[in-house]
Amino acid sequence: MTFNLPELPYPKDALAPYISAETLEFHHGKHHAAYVKRLNELIAGTRFASMELDEIIKGAGPGPIFNSAAQHWNHSFYWLGMKPKAGGKPTGAIADAIDRAFGGFDQFKAKFTDAANTLFGSGWAWLVQKGDGSVAIVQTHDAENPLTRNEKPLLTCDVWEHAYYIDYRNARPSYVEAFWNLVNWEFASSNLT
Ligand code: FE
Repeated sequence: MTFNLPELPYPKDALAPYISAETLEFHHGKHHAAYVKRLNELIAGTRFASMELDEIIKGAGPGPIFNSAAQHWNHSFYWLGMKPKAGGKPTGAIADAIDRAFGGFDQFKAKFTDAANTLFGSGWAWLVQKGDGSVAIVQTHDAENPLTRNEKPLLTCDVWEHAYYIDYRNARPSYVEAFWNLVNWEFASSNLT
């Protein structure tokens, strides 16, 4: 199977002023595109060539194929977790799960923000659903994806420098604060089982 770079689910300038068109130009058009291209090159002629993306992520083990596959998955998921004129608080089952796990939305927001800001180096902050149905915040380094830990991703924030350096330079906390204005809670809710 050949993997393709998915279209962004909104125009490149739609997330401004929180994330600029220039950032999306590079982040989607260069970084994400490069992961897809590299993945296709690496799996050509191997047993991975006939696998679905999540099968590669669960089966590849550490190395370049895992890194390219997981970064393709992570970025595709990250784009869907944002939309223009979004943010605010979730409603329904995901709101209840967040209240149960963290004691309220404000406590959740503070803990997720802290997880995103304190991740050392490159990686991702996630809201996941665990096997027992409860939700939790996890950090993953580099390309790591919660699927390998049998956790179901609900929402993610990319905290690689390439996600924010054009707009915020070294100020990751400013990017993470801006992210809250873009969170697509309908998408996060749709991932909850
Ligand atoms: Fe990224």
